[in-house]
Amino acid sequence: CGIVGYIGDKDARDILLKGLSNLEYRGYDSAGIALLNSDGVHVFKEKGRIDVLRKIVDPAVQSTLGIGHTRWATHGVPNRRNAHPHQSASGRFTIVHNGVIENFSQLKAEYIPDVTLKSDTDTEVVVQVIEHFVENGLGVEEALRKTLKFIDGSYAIALLDSENSDMLYVAKNKSPLLIGTGDGFNVVASDATAMIQQTKQYVELMDEEIVELARDSYTIKDLDGNVKTREPYTVSFDA
Ligand code: GLU
Repeated sequence: CGIVGYIGDKDARDILLKGLSNLEYRGYDSAGIALLNSDGVHVFKEKGRIDVLRKIVDPAVQSTLGIGHTRWATHGVPNRRNAHPHQSASGRFTIVHNGVIENFSQLKAEYIPDVTLKSDTDTEVVVQVIEHFVENGLGVEEALRKTLKFIDGSYAIALLDSENSDMLYVAKNKSPLLIGTGDGFNVVASDATAMIQQTKQYVELMDEEIVELARDSYTIKDLDGNVKTREPYTVSFDA
């Protein structure tokens, strides 16, 4: 399974699909992408191979911000409904997640008892709880950190807010996730193989960190909101 995200000035769709193809070796049962543009968020997902996904992605959708996912199902059978990305009730937030949310049923019962879930996944609860906290007045980054603090389990997460086309939120705990930086763009993925076409500069992430990725900057924070300063390192892929 794997995650890829892109925010920049190029066509996100091709970068995401190529990135997911490069992550295929990790194994998966379903795949999906979400593209954000001025019309809103466009989600394409399906059970099966990246080739299947490639065929259902609308080539007319232009976007420079998006997230992609290959799923290895842990909660909910592999099908289109359970494939990522998952969206909040209003459709404002869109998430992809690798890992396992151990306490998802407690989170559901405690924070969103009245929300009707659209899938059988542990993941959907996370995006619904984030929206719940935002509706109760928190900023998006704050709502993300608060939700993550309540989670027991593992996650590599990428989150889109359809009301902000200049930001991609990511987070990591006990699942692999790496930032790639460039001139006017940033990428994120489970490993560097998904990003080698874009950049050779990477920023390592620690457990229980979030990142606010803009086109020209990245801000790493711990779950209390303290900013962490970390420079990229350059990798040479020469054989
Ligand atoms: N636990 C999530 C699910 O079953 C994510 C699985 C994964 O890591 O791909 O949908």
